[in-house]
Amino acid sequence: MASATFESLNPSTGEVIDSFPRSGADDVARAVDIARETWESWRLVPAPERGNILFRFAQVLEQHKAELSDLMTREMGKVKAEAGGDVQEAIDMSYYMGGEGRRLFGQTTPSELRDKFMMSVRMPVGVVGAITPWNFPIAIPAWKLCPAIVCGNTVVLKPAEDTPKLAQRFVDLLQEAGLPEGVVQIVHGFGEEAGDALVKHPDVPVITFTGSRETGVLVTKNAADELKHVHLELGGKNAIIVMDDADVDLAVDGILWSAFGTSGQRCTAASRVIVGSKVYEPLQSRLVERTEQLKLGYGLEEDVDVGPVINRAALEKIHSYTEIGEGEGAKLLTGGEIATDNGLDKGFFYRPTIFGDVDPQMRIAQEEIFGPTTALIRATDIDEAIRAANSVEFGLSSSIFTRDVNKAFRAMRDLNTGITYINAGTTGAEVHLPFGGTKGTGNGHREAGQAALDFYTEWKSIYVDYSGKLQRAQIDNAE
Ligand code: NAD
Repeated sequence: MASATFESLNPSTGEVIDSFPRSGADDVARAVDIARETWESWRLVPAPERGNILFRFAQVLEQHKAELSDLMTREMGKVKAEAGGDVQEAIDMSYYMGGEGRRLFGQTTPSELRDKFMMSVRMPVGVVGAITPWNFPIAIPAWKLCPAIVCGNTVVLKPAEDTPKLAQRFVDLLQEAGLPEGVVQIVHGFGEEAGDALVKHPDVPVITFTGSRETGVLVTKNAADELKHVHLELGGKNAIIVMDDADVDLAVDGILWSAFGTSGQRCTAASRVIVGSKVYEPLQSRLVERTEQLKLGYGLEEDVDVGPVINRAALEKIHSYTEIGEGEGAKLLTGGEIATDNGLDKGFFYRPTIFGDVDPQMRIAQEEIFGPTTALIRATDIDEAIRAANSVEFGLSSSIFTRDVNKAFRAMRDLNTGITYINAGTTGAEVHLPFGGTKGTGNGHREAGQAALDFYTEWKSIYVDYSGKLQRAQIDNAE
């Protein structure tokens, strides 16, 4: 067991929450050995039985929802309602994947030969290495672990170093729900140590990773020698388009929620708003007015709208982008500073920030800031708006506010993202549709929905010949 430790901090107060083992390669190897051994029996447990454990897990999460939400606000900073939403997403995912225990459908199809039967079945792959970020500290482990478990894999989870306590509670509650020992294990620690060891371990054939683009590229390279299956969910630079015919008040509601919810630290956060030239001025003034009414503070308090960002490094990175934006000639309309009044200086608080007159090619309109900063960009028509929306390296989420059905369908077809919303902001995915992005947001796999099953299983095609004689496909039935 690692003797070194690290601490988890409350980003609203700077107080220490707890300390955790800083695991290294030896700890990872021990966990993988157990996972590998457990897999031999776990893969043979009937899938409906595996699913039943997930139904119980969903119920256990429901019983502990208030406790987990409270801990989330303390350890990660999300305000109360959003923390509850994070836990609810895990509950929904657990029920949904529990149901997969009685589905996990394959195909049957007629053979080209007589007296021959054909089908495909899903097989578990083995030990899954799951590496998760801090921004959805309960939901993202659920997105990965629920499908992995129901498909018959075992898992070693390496959670983000900023939210170890939540990840530990998640795994403890899985045990409470009756998951046999060894099916899921947790190794705490740093990415370059425990995370790296997990990615390189030869007995871990599957790596599912959510985090930054830079780390995702590194993980892919490190997994290449063993030809591992790698699933990446990376960054976003999501745009909301507001056309001249839109309901502006509704659009402002959507922008506020998508740009400043979770202090802008969502992969689906709206960090660009592309606005029709006729509606630009009214939208800008309403948005700035509403933004300045948002209350910053500790998310356990009822009337707080925006919590802290995760740590000091994030605070500094976000502020450096304000300086970059000003240097590029964008107009700072509101925010742009670290908040220190009324005791906020003890935590990591950044004022919701809006830049106006942003050129789509500026760095603040191209790079993921991962904080409460958004950029207003003008567009004369739908073509220019879609071109600007697509002009970034990421492709996670997009949205359009319009009352024109033709424009809505153009956007659905032409926005190059994995998710598109019509008349809603860029956030709010549900667990039964695929979740993920195009271009630099990932590598083609999807989380959630039926699509997730494809990553956690291998297809096997089975042919049963009951003719009692040699029948040769593509030869004996040829004309
Ligand atoms: P990060 O890349 O810094 O860390 C993510 C995880 O990777 C952590 O557990 C970390 O310890 C680990 N890690 C770091 N270096 C590693 C290495 N060399 N080998 C193996 N593991 C390593 O990201 P973050 O700051 O925790 O999360 C924010 C990022 O996550 C943003 O870019 C955000 O857009 C992205 N994100 C994407 C989605 C999605 O579904 N697309 C969802 C949430 C967050």
